[in-house]
Amino acid sequence: MQSSIEHHFIHLAPKAELHVHLEGTLTLHLLQVLAKKHSTVVPKAYEELMGSEEKFELDKFFAAYYEAQSLLRDELDFAEALYSYLKIASSQGVRYCEVSIDIQNHTSRGVSLDTIMQGMKLGQQMAQKDGIEIEAMVIVCLVGEKTEEEALKTIEEAAKFRDLIVAIGLATSEVGLPIKKFERAFLMSKELGFKTCAHFWDNGASANIKDGLHCCKLERIDHGMSIFDDSKLLGECIGNQIPFTFCPQSLITFDQVKLDLSKGFPFRYLLEIGLLISVNSDDAAYNRAYIGDNFALVEKIYMLEKSHIKKLCENSFKSAFISEKAKKKYLGLVNDYFAQ
Ligand SMILES: [Zn+2]
Repeated sequence: MQSSIEHHFIHLAPKAELHVHLEGTLTLHLLQVLAKKHSTVVPKAYEELMGSEEKFELDKFFAAYYEAQSLLRDELDFAEALYSYLKIASSQGVRYCEVSIDIQNHTSRGVSLDTIMQGMKLGQQMAQKDGIEIEAMVIVCLVGEKTEEEALKTIEEAAKFRDLIVAIGLATSEVGLPIKKFERAFLMSKELGFKTCAHFWDNGASANIKDGLHCCKLERIDHGMSIFDDSKLLGECIGNQIPFTFCPQSLITFDQVKLDLSKGFPFRYLLEIGLLISVNSDDAAYNRAYIGDNFALVEKIYMLEKSHIKKLCENSFKSAFISEKAKKKYLGLVNDYFAQ
């Protein structure tokens, strides 16, 4: 398949990144720096996973993922992680981002929420000092395997950092985890003024998305490819402009759609019929693809035109948890860029 649009043009187009995990952006270089600082070594599981050309097996991925993130220990480590992501994101057109952090996995090993949030502030300041102008907000990503009580406690703590934390999300490695387990947690999040979103990773589970929207009142869906299985729900999501974050390289890396994305998921069709879908990087370092790379990937797979790329940039800002005024400002940037 031939690409018709310059990748340079796609990379630099102004966009928002809404589905990226801080723990998924840890590069080998950063881990080497952190390992040296803490007088230890880069986890073997990480080196083995990243050194392999094979598709990721979930258990091997999570083993590497958890070991690698345990090198994030103090404020400066978190700051360096955010800074390192923002530096790459800015080279790929990101103007605004919402970074998910698995807070519970850090607090359970003794790192306080305060340390993490101070690190986020510092990381942003370091980026600004280097001329990187990306507004970065945090999504507290609840861990699906943990209990409802643990989730409620985390949300209560998060309420102390409303200036930085914009939303409560949820991710899980458990296939088929019923979202209703966290109904109370999401409703409480909304009462506290947070936006809400959750991962729906498993195929063929549109009923779970329906519960997420109807019972948990979720405002954004991460992945959620099974939306295509339920035409009534799809129509409802288009009508209500419910945002979906699509992470193509992640789907390939984890083999969720058995390699052939063009047959496995009708992305271009969904974009054209008005689903508010955006392109994101998920675990960028592990996927070896940041947001601009993911844009270039969908452009190639789905033979997108310039108008589609513009729509994706617009969708990213429309899907962001920001004010209408901020949306208008960013949409103006997109318009100017594509008028060139
Ligand atoms: Zn994710």
